[in-house]
Amino acid sequence: RLHNTILELKGNIRVFCRVRPLLPDDGAAEGVVVSYPTSMESLGRGIDLIQNGQKYPFTFDKVFNPEASQQDVFVEISQLVQSALDGYKVCIFAYGQTGSGKTYTMMGRPEAPEQKGLIPRSLEQIFQISQSLQAQGWKYKMQAILFYASMLEIYNETIRDLLSTNRSIGSDPTRPESAVSGKQYTIKHDANGNTYVSDLTIVDVSTITEISSLLRQAAQSRSVGRTQMNEQSSRSHMVFTLRISGINEGTEQQVQGVLNLIDLAGSERLSKSGATGDRLRETQAINKSLSCLSDVIFALAKKEDHVPFRNSKLTYLLQPCLGGDSKTLMFVNVSPEPSSVGESLCSLRFAARVN
Ligand code: ADP
Ligand code: MG
Repeated sequence: RLHNTILELKGNIRVFCRVRPLLPDDGAAEGVVVSYPTSMESLGRGIDLIQNGQKYPFTFDKVFNPEASQQDVFVEISQLVQSALDGYKVCIFAYGQTGSGKTYTMMGRPEAPEQKGLIPRSLEQIFQISQSLQAQGWKYKMQAILFYASMLEIYNETIRDLLSTNRSIGSDPTRPESAVSGKQYTIKHDANGNTYVSDLTIVDVSTITEISSLLRQAAQSRSVGRTQMNEQSSRSHMVFTLRISGINEGTEQQVQGVLNLIDLAGSERLSKSGATGDRLRETQAINKSLSCLSDVIFALAKKEDHVPFRNSKLTYLLQPCLGGDSKTLMFVNVSPEPSSVGESLCSLRFAARVN
């Protein structure tokens, strides 16, 4: 469209699968549960899951095996990220059970440069390229938004603003922002087809340093009450949005792009006997919002007339970024632990449905 090559896309929805390495804490592996037809490469297209001696083969747009580095993964999405500078709406999700590597893929470990995830890498690239485009007359304005949408109440997804600076120190980080500040976060669509959540903090960012300190601030806000937040992060969606508006001072061309990077709530099902009360209802609410997302992506992939955006707040919020000429990529993260094989199979089936 403008200044970069647009990928040939099979539709606008792609699915990448990433298998994390076996970790020391995982315990001894009793037998192989994942294998790759192209076992010598860190990147292929096929993956076999083995459950009780039975082989379940899957094919995705790409499969990253445990040896794939953060850089190996980023290389495969960098063009997609860059298209946000051309005015595309880009959505990248990480889907999978808790412990499968979603946050590692999205955020990574910011303290180790080679382990930085897609969010910091994407932002660095966007800033670098936007700067180099200045020479061609482009001026960009970037705004960042970061929040958790948790589902502590049924049918009432609750928003927690991670960039808000006016939270009272020491307040319970697991409490919804609205309970602390009295703010009402309501999802609104405006006349131009933009969606936004009212009252969320929007931060203008114009340098890499600003973005880094923003991510640090968010990480800090998340590390307060670490145990509770880890709990919460597995039970809420984390949404990072970068809005990009560009104008070319020579040609007066304008672009409005959006990059959404979303670390979804853990997809695990609770065993029917185990959970009761609030926990059970909450899990049901998460599973409902994830299945709504799957329904929407499925309907889009099949080019169906009716796309059920309004069935959950998450899809309602992301509506403008999911249809039309927007670009969607879903990572399905999988753990190689034998004890996770059931959940892994569910995740792969979920992803295969939208692919
Ligand atoms: P999730 O967000 O899906 O719950 P995490 O991203 O927190 O899972 O990953 C669980 C653990 O596995 C973390 O300790 C994380 O650092 C580690 N991990 C995940 N993916 C990788 C990877 N590709 N390489 C090394 N460690 C990983
Ligand atoms: Mg996580």
